[in-house]
Amino acid sequence: MRCKSCNGEGLIRCPECSGEGIDYGIHKCETCAGEGEMACSTCQGSGKIGLFERLKSKV
Ligand SMILES: [Zn+2]
Ligand SMILES: [Zn+2]
Repeated sequence: MRCKSCNGEGLIRCPECSGEGIDYGIHKCETCAGEGEMACSTCQGSGKIGLFERLKSKV
């Protein structure tokens, strides 16, 4: 499924797909704003966060 926010262009700053271009549940980490900080426990420093981790972090 093509990302609606960047129209599948995969913009690195796109908050919906974080540069993937395809919206399959990978979003920019909100805890570190996609910076991917090593200390960020939400995204493990990747700056991206999957749908599963998103749901898990809300619990
Ligand atoms: Zn996008
Ligand atoms: Zn993070």
